[in-house]
Amino acid sequence: MIGTLDPKVPPGPLDQKWRNHRDHSRLVSPNNRRKLEIIVVGSGLAGGSVAATLGELGYRVKCFCFQDSPRRAHSIAAQGGINAAKNYQNDGDSVYRLFYDTIKGGDFRSREANVYRLAEIANNIIDQCVAQGVPFAREYSGYLANRSFGGAQVSRTFYARGQTGQQLLLGCYQALCRQVASGTVRMFPYTEMLDLVIVNGQANGIITRNLRSGKMERHAADAVVLGSGGYGNVFYLSTNARGSNVTATYRAYKRGALFANPSFTQIHPTCIPVSGDYQSKLTLMSESLRNDGRVWVPKRKEDRFKPPNEIPEADRDYYLERKYPSYGNLAPRDISSRAAKEVCDEGRGVGPGARGVYLDFADAIKRLGVETIRERYGNLFHVYKKITGEDAYKVPMRIYPAVHYTMGGLWVDYDLMSNVPGLFVIGEANFSDHGANRLGASALMQGLADGYFVLPNTLPNYLAGQMGKRPSPESAEFEQAEHDVRARLEKLLKVNGTRSADSFHRELGLLLWDKVGMSRNEQGLREALRKIPELRHEFWHDVRVPGDEEDYNQSLEGTRWARRRFPRIRRADVH
Ligand SMILES: Cc1cc2nc3c(=O)[nH]c(=O)nc-3n(C[C@H](O)[C@H](O)[C@H](O)COP(=O)(O)OP(=O)(O)OC[C@H]3O[C@@H](n4cnc5c(N)ncnc54)[C@H](O)[C@@H]3O)c2cc1C
Repeated sequence: MIGTLDPKVPPGPLDQKWRNHRDHSRLVSPNNRRKLEIIVVGSGLAGGSVAATLGELGYRVKCFCFQDSPRRAHSIAAQGGINAAKNYQNDGDSVYRLFYDTIKGGDFRSREANVYRLAEIANNIIDQCVAQGVPFAREYSGYLANRSFGGAQVSRTFYARGQTGQQLLLGCYQALCRQVASGTVRMFPYTEMLDLVIVNGQANGIITRNLRSGKMERHAADAVVLGSGGYGNVFYLSTNARGSNVTATYRAYKRGALFANPSFTQIHPTCIPVSGDYQSKLTLMSESLRNDGRVWVPKRKEDRFKPPNEIPEADRDYYLERKYPSYGNLAPRDISSRAAKEVCDEGRGVGPGARGVYLDFADAIKRLGVETIRERYGNLFHVYKKITGEDAYKVPMRIYPAVHYTMGGLWVDYDLMSNVPGLFVIGEANFSDHGANRLGASALMQGLADGYFVLPNTLPNYLAGQMGKRPSPESAEFEQAEHDVRARLEKLLKVNGTRSADSFHRELGLLLWDKVGMSRNEQGLREALRKIPELRHEFWHDVRVPGDEEDYNQSLEGTRWARRRFPRIRRADVH
């Protein structure tokens, strides 16, 4: 193993650790910053915010993304909101309470020092974004509005209708563009990182491929930051964008960075149910809908074919309100997801395939009026209608759990550095202290805390010792890494079998959803362990990737999921 697994939590009381750490961390002087080069892989909320902030500080930054523009990073899909403990509602919230809820949301596995820091910084994020012009929803008085999210009994979620991620990303993108214009950040769109380069045990660069021209390039740097997102698409059907993939973190893993808790996947209870065999993507209906929607199924199996409006109150089972009265419909995501699966397993699921439960707004519309509901969730109702053809103002929505978010990722210490010196990991790509990002509206908080506030303060601790040490991209290590990448691509192109990479990905995803999904048992996990190597073997003997490597080749890109996930389900993950 490279490096150590020392979390390097600073000494002192919990609420003073971060301040003390910053006071005693090493600094890099402004004159020296422009001599240091940082690679940032990812331009979502985590990567974009850190690239902009480091650029503003005067470092030389190269920022990579595989989309045509940073604006299309998957962060744009975030709908519901971002948490902070401003206590504008005067409902008893505080930094401590946000810290406590987050620790509890992570099943008490999280590193307390990091989570406390996250809760403290959350308020700064809101101020930062407001200063950038992010149009958060406001009360009539002008104060920022809040709504509730699962796993919390206070209202602390800041939102911009159902487009919070998009608005936050636009704020971040403006900051990034300012740096691009001033020459501190160089953007590399349509560029995929295919390997990490380690020189003398330190992360010093990456190998990339231009997705348009197929051109391979070497980039050397004094530190490498991965903000490359999560791996939810391993399940094939998920709420993630189709392009989201695990290449960057997986390549880092192959070069020695350790993965923490890859089995920790969030299943979101509020998604549009699967509608057919040829679907390639699932759609989230934001958790915020559970503020006003009531979840139910018929009490009797035989009623599940009846139109919902013909099932009287007495025959409905509002199972979340019944089982978890203190949180009701806002029970945490894992609890709500399992509860939905249970009622469907009992044969009380609704809709085609009987894998669905109702999310009903009739009471809220009666209480608040249709206009208020439209104002709060109009775009989500619109999306739902576009996909299902049903009008959720008139009939209840149908929802079912889906893979949504990954809490595992590359292990990092208090400074967000992996066990490989010089390799930093932020946002969904890191393990976020075993689930500290698990509650709704915490992932955006974590990504922006990492990017705007934590890493810009902790990176100098490492960089201060790196002056003048950057290796040349012509060095033997870069040569070897590029050679390895070319050899891997060639091997893939040479298989020349009969099946598409997508068909392997689909088969793998279904297997994982069935055996390693929402509920797991020993028998299922062992079956997955047996079948995955068989599928991997078949992949390397029968995959067909048309075209060549030196060109625009979507099929080649498409193999990234299938080939990279196989080796990662290991015996150790079964425990
Ligand atoms: C539908 C949906 C709704 C959500 N709603 C919420 C919400 O309301 N509140 C909340 O807190 N969280 C929400 N989340 C979770 C949250 O949106 C994500 O966790 C977060 O945006 C991830 O940000 P990121 O910057 O870490 O990664 P991403 O936004 O996924 O960005 C990854 C970046 O890395 C780049 N990249 C990846 N691999 C490579 C490579 N090999 N080479 C080059 N570039 C690469 C990509 O191009 C991209 O720029 C939601 C998630 C989904 C799916």
